[in-house]
Amino acid sequence: MHWADAFTKDLYPGDQVISTGISPSGPIHVGNMREILTGAFIFQAAEDAGMKSELLYLCDDMDPLRKVYPFLDQSYSRYVGMPLYRIPAPDGNGSYSDYFLRPFIETLDIINVHPRVIRSSELYRDGILMKAIDIALNNSERIARILKEISGRELEPSWAPYNAICASCGRINTTTMVSYKYPYVEYTCKCGYSGTADIGRDQGKLPWRIEWPAKWYALSVTAEPFGKDHGAPGGSYDTGKEIATLIYRINPPKPLVYERIMLKGKGAMHSSTGIAIPARDLVESAPPELLRFLIARIQPARHIDFDPGLGILNLADEYEKYREVYFGKEKSNNPDASRIYELSRVRPENEAEFISFRHLITLLQIYPEESNLRDALKRSGIDTDKIGASFHKMVNTAKNWLQNYAPEEVKFNVLKETSPLVLNEGEKKLLEEFLSKLDGASWDADTLHNLLHEAIKSRNYDPKYGFALFYRVLIGKEKGPRLGYFLSHLDKNMIVARIKFAISQ
Ligand SMILES: [Zn+2]
Repeated sequence: MHWADAFTKDLYPGDQVISTGISPSGPIHVGNMREILTGAFIFQAAEDAGMKSELLYLCDDMDPLRKVYPFLDQSYSRYVGMPLYRIPAPDGNGSYSDYFLRPFIETLDIINVHPRVIRSSELYRDGILMKAIDIALNNSERIARILKEISGRELEPSWAPYNAICASCGRINTTTMVSYKYPYVEYTCKCGYSGTADIGRDQGKLPWRIEWPAKWYALSVTAEPFGKDHGAPGGSYDTGKEIATLIYRINPPKPLVYERIMLKGKGAMHSSTGIAIPARDLVESAPPELLRFLIARIQPARHIDFDPGLGILNLADEYEKYREVYFGKEKSNNPDASRIYELSRVRPENEAEFISFRHLITLLQIYPEESNLRDALKRSGIDTDKIGASFHKMVNTAKNWLQNYAPEEVKFNVLKETSPLVLNEGEKKLLEEFLSKLDGASWDADTLHNLLHEAIKSRNYDPKYGFALFYRVLIGKEKGPRLGYFLSHLDKNMIVARIKFAISQ
């Protein structure tokens, strides 16, 4: 059984509210997508199991800016400590948090995930967390004890479960609560200001370890995926669970802890260190279903090694194989192959709409012009007219991948008929042998593959060396796409002319 389906077996009976969230402190990258997609698969599994469900995405825009990240200019130092939604966007349009949230929402739209997006600032501004804040403030000492016992953290005597935003300097991590009388918190700030914050408005926030269970309480959350740092012993899920049970008197949501996504050869992705691929870039440089597939196919407890280069082609091959299993045309050792495909596809696909990504990458390099590419695809049995407007998008995606992520070994240019080339006599004989076999032979991948083998064998060449010769003649490299298949997509007259020219040199 797929992990998302297995997880739904343990859910509380009744309607489900599955919550996910990220702090929009920088570009939302491929690593962050594990959170929302794990939630999206649970949501889909719960719906498929007949449970009425809702998927939430909580944008933690009340979090303070922690430092001037490498992608920000130094002028941001004056905003450190202020809530993200009150800081201007790097491009000057709107807020900092919305600036990073927007491309993420666009990415979700492309991969067909549609959570209810809730900004933390709205929860505070609209008073949705007001009751939870009041309960926390009335149970300050008990909460402090829970935090100390479970996380081992010593709290200052002045600690309170509420951080007011200073009305003067705008910072949230520099204030200290002096007193609380519903609904007002009196505070002082390191800047020298003293003021009052209304807990029914966005004038302050709960510290993270209390805010998390407060959101479960206010939004009736029943299930939540989160990263292993939150799930560590003594971590924020452990304290949250206790606060939920003892203070808010609710069941904590069923947890699903997931491992990180590592960027091949570089380690865990962090936008703060610059080791990250923005999710928006990836869905424009690879078929969008692959982002879903990357996460659906692996158990959450296992980390994922992500390689945007050759790894994307291999991932596409595997996706296409699972797709064949789904349509009953292939078998797989993975009993979940069909379900993984079903969870990964962006929307139901029919046979005619589909183009293998590897096939598209090869043909696109032979036929960079879109109309020629359409003709070539038609010759391979794919009617691009049936694909409609999304065909153009597929082509752009493939172009972006070639430009941004494709390793050298995948890239090629078909050489001109008269491109210079130096061959020895033996090599020329092998090319002649191949030409002589073409008379009357049909121009398809299998036939060409066999003829190549026969020609190489009859001249007593090592197959590897023989194949490399043809790649040198055609693309000036030692390796390329599968040769019979490759030739079958090139024009026969052009190939013959190219080989004849090479022999004549
Ligand atoms: Zn201040």
